Amino acid sequence: MKNPFEILGIKEGASKDEVKKAYRKKALEAHPDKNPNDKKAADKFREINEAYESIKNGNYKKVEEFTWGPDIDIDEVFNFASKKFSGFFAKGKNVEIDMNININELIYGCIKEVYFQRQLKCFKCNGIGGEIGGICIVCKGHGKLRTNSNTPFGWLNNVVTCHACKGIGNEIINHCNDCNGIGVIQENDKLLVRVPAQYIFKTKKYTGLGSWLRTGQNGAYGDLIINIIEKDENFVRAGNNLCYELYISIAEAALGTKVIIPTLEKDTSLEIIINPGIQHGKILRIEGKGVLLSMKPNNIISIRRGDLIVTVNITIPVNMTAKERELMQTIKANEYFLT
Ligand SMILES: [Zn+2]
Ligand SMILES: [Zn+2]
Repeated sequence: MKNPFEILGIKEGASKDEVKKAYRKKALEAHPDKNPNDKKAADKFREINEAYESIKNGNYKKVEEFTWGPDIDIDEVFNFASKKFSGFFAKGKNVEIDMNININELIYGCIKEVYFQRQLKCFKCNGIGGEIGGICIVCKGHGKLRTNSNTPFGWLNNVVTCHACKGIGNEIINHCNDCNGIGVIQENDKLLVRVPAQYIFKTKKYTGLGSWLRTGQNGAYGDLIINIIEKDENFVRAGNNLCYELYISIAEAALGTKVIIPTLEKDTSLEIIINPGIQHGKILRIEGKGVLLSMKPNNIISIRRGDLIVTVNITIPVNMTAKERELMQTIKANEYFLT
């Protein structure tokens, strides 16, 4: 984090009054209501607030020991805007879903339909939950309530949304039948998601496709976050290498065998020879049969196709016929099989 004193344009160790004065001046200059639709000003406003909070809470090490009384003027700045606050920082609820893709889809890209649930603003009542009545008697129309609490860092002033009017500032009368007075309706939605070839990122975000949430006198939609989960019926990918679990019987392991291994090329499979006496857990590496993802998450460009890494698993029979049991007894009695 930047030095909070620098952000407020004052010297480190400035007095409480100097901090408050600088904060008030800067916050008013950058306030969203004075700079509508100005993203830079909004970011600046947020930064100024964080700097002030940081100094106030003593998070910043070089701070002089201040005692912050309940008289701090952050609320004056807030009151300046509370009634007509533009909702510049309003943020809805994000909706998060998982989407599986296989390794071929990762390499070549794909288009997939996803289904998700989200909450839409009720159109009938415009998200209010009913009709607007008189001024809310709890918050006197501000939509916000202030609370003071004494903490080990000193007095903290919190501004919370009014519980009675949910931040609207007015009483809500004649509850809306469409949304049962909650202002939102449940929606089953679907979306065609295009995953570009070699999309190595774990998530995809669709701004504004999340749920609507009331924040004070306004409301906003959150985002839809899609977690991309790589799931392949044959392989697990490790960078540009593909890992495959091969299962063979005890007899195959002892006598040696030929096995067929799938590859990423759908119609092609690989025949590999298992030598007699192969051990459980043995790893076989087939060069150049992995994947070629040119971009890795750390932005390193790869120009080499990876390998196919086969792990040999020897399976132990669970259910044997009388004949097989007899054969096993014979093997067991042989001195070469004694461990
Ligand atoms: Zn209220
Ligand atoms: Zn409604």
